[in-house]
Amino acid sequence: MDKLLANMGFGTRKDVKKLMKSGSVHVNGEVVKEGKVHVDPEKDLVTVFGEEVKYKPYIYLMMNKPQGVISATEDDEHETVIDLLLYEHAMYEPFPVGRLDKDTEGFLLITNDGQFSHALMSPKRHVPKTYYATIRGRVTEEDVKLFEQGVTLEDGYETKPGQLVVLEQGAESKIELTITEGKYHQVKRMFEAVGKKVTTLKRLKIGDLELDSELELGTYRELTDEEVEILL
Ligand code: URA
Repeated sequence: MDKLLANMGFGTRKDVKKLMKSGSVHVNGEVVKEGKVHVDPEKDLVTVFGEEVKYKPYIYLMMNKPQGVISATEDDEHETVIDLLLYEHAMYEPFPVGRLDKDTEGFLLITNDGQFSHALMSPKRHVPKTYYATIRGRVTEEDVKLFEQGVTLEDGYETKPGQLVVLEQGAESKIELTITEGKYHQVKRMFEAVGKKVTTLKRLKIGDLELDSELELGTYRELTDEEVEILL
C-alpha cells in the first residue's frame, strides 16, 4: 500500500506511512493504517481523504518542446525534456517518443509505454509528421514537385515523398512539410538537398493529432484516452 501511494505521487514512503497512520486511507471502505498491507490496484478501491485513487500504469504526454532542450531522458550538459516534467509525471520514468533536434520546437510525445512508442516509431507504419519551417531562400513550385518525388540526401539516401505546402514565398519562405519518415535531421537535410536552409523548425502534428495551440513552449499536458486512440 505505501509503495503504491508513493508511486502515485503522495510523497515519500515515510510521508505515506504518516498519511496512513492518520486514518485517511481506505481500501474497499475499511481504514488501512499499515503500509505493508497488500492491495491490488486493479481490483481494490483505494481512497485517500475520501477521493478515489486511480492507478494507471502508463502516462502519455504532449509537450510543446522549446528550443535549447534535449529530447532525451538524461544529458550531462543540457536540460532535457524530462527535466521539464513535474514529479507526478517524471515518477513514471517516461521517455520521449523519437527525437526533435535541440533547436527544433513543437509537438513531442512523452510516455513510459514502450509498445506505444514502438508502434509510432515503426518505419512500417509510416506515421506522417507535419512541420512548420522558415527557410532561407525562395521555395518554389519546382521544390514542391521535387519533394513530391522524394529527394536525394547528401549521403545518397532517397527520401519517401514529402508533401510541401508553401505558405509564404520570398527571400525567407514559410512552409509546411509532411513526411512519413524520421531520418536524422530529415527536414533540414531535405531542404539542403534543394540548396536551401531551414532557419526555424517546429513540429505541428503527429499522425492525426495536432499540437494543442493552448500549450505554451516548455509546457505539456496528458493526452486524453481519445487522443491516445487516434495515435494507435
Ligand atoms: N527534421 C529535422 O531536421 N529536425 C527535427 O528535429 C525533426 C525533423
